[in-house]
Amino acid sequence: MATFQAPKGTYDLIPPYSAKYLAVREAISGPLRKSGYGYIETPGFEDVDLFARGVGESTDIVTKEMYTLTTKGGANLALRPEGTASVLRAALEANLHKAGGLPVKLWYSGSYYRYERPQKGRYRHFSQVGAEAIGSEDPALDAELIILADQAYRSLGLRNFRILLNSLGDAECRPVYREALQGFLRGLDLDEETLRRAEINPLRVLDDKRESVQKQLVGAPMLRDYLCEACKAYHSEVRELITAAGVVFEDDEKLVRGLDYYTRTTFEFVHDGLGSQSAVGGGGRYDGLSEMIGGPALPSVGWALGVDRTVLALEAEGVELDIPPATSVFAIALSDEARKVLFGAVTELRKTGVAADFSYGSKGLKSHMKNANRSGARFTVVAGERDLAEGVVQLKDMESGEQDAVALADLVATVRARLA
Ligand code: ATP
Ligand code: MG
Repeated sequence: MATFQAPKGTYDLIPPYSAKYLAVREAISGPLRKSGYGYIETPGFEDVDLFARGVGESTDIVTKEMYTLTTKGGANLALRPEGTASVLRAALEANLHKAGGLPVKLWYSGSYYRYERPQKGRYRHFSQVGAEAIGSEDPALDAELIILADQAYRSLGLRNFRILLNSLGDAECRPVYREALQGFLRGLDLDEETLRRAEINPLRVLDDKRESVQKQLVGAPMLRDYLCEACKAYHSEVRELITAAGVVFEDDEKLVRGLDYYTRTTFEFVHDGLGSQSAVGGGGRYDGLSEMIGGPALPSVGWALGVDRTVLALEAEGVELDIPPATSVFAIALSDEARKVLFGAVTELRKTGVAADFSYGSKGLKSHMKNANRSGARFTVVAGERDLAEGVVQLKDMESGEQDAVALADLVATVRARLA
């Protein structure tokens, strides 16, 4: 029979490699959990219109990258390509913005799907950890999120990442700039698709990666020169707060990000060891999104960090995460009676919180020892008929190589004491 493979653009997370992913998710979510963010989980698919309206009709995500489907019941759904629209939808549906004080601070972790051209760091199924602070316009909130992401990356040992920062203005100043930019773009020699984009969302043309386009953009009007007083003040406070926190960033006037909903603060975390898939995370303020999906005005800010690319960035920097072995004690039985006794001891150890594993199957001592070594266990417990007759087991410290006989009745307490 033909064997199956993971679909194009996807890959499986397999031990021991998969432990890195768990550690990265843990490291990214850690600072959030300690900063008042509550965990939220939403479905893997949503009404396709949520993304069309929320992410934007002119974005690559919506026009090219979405996995859409029609259910047997006739509903038009899309596998979620990003988290923000879903999280805001869920918060509105549950009336979180009415229930308690604002902002509503939420974090999430999960799988996202985009129909992209697969390459290193760009997959059709990938993983993000994200955070959203909903319903408050306060530069300290924008600063908090940037600081927490910086802290997360640093706690992992990453050093060669940079933070790019920009302001996209608001409903007052952005339209004026938009028109000025459009006027400029109309005079350029651009292909049809780009010209169309210039009409729908001209700021996104600034984000065009092609050199032929970038060359023509020299001299384009810059948003910085059009920011209204309120946006300028807001942005300078964000900059001040993150600077005071010791977080280094670079101003990047061309940073517009691929989603339509951003206003004011936008930022991206880039890593220089990743080639063209250099963005390890990004986010910004999205003051208009709630209204775009039918909610009340709820100025909000958030980010999403890519787990896959963060793992690649760790590899690029040669950072080895300190992942402790999953197993502390490995028990090896040398007789049928010992199997029952040691299996019981393993269960007892586990009950008291000691990670333990057992010599399953009927292979010999040698192959069991191999499994014990592979498990990374600090201790092995070996027992055969003779040991049991004396009421003892052999406890071996795999680090020092020392071995001694321990009374079976004292095994759990002895192991716990030596592990402590
Ligand atoms: P890019 O410019 O590389 O396409 P993006 O702007 O589309 O990135 P976001 O929508 O901001 O990415 O998503 C946040 C993070 O999620 C990215 O910084 C990246 O780390 C990760 N990410 C996005 N798309 C993919 C993908 N196809 N494969 C792996 N990771 C991804
Ligand atoms: Mg993209």
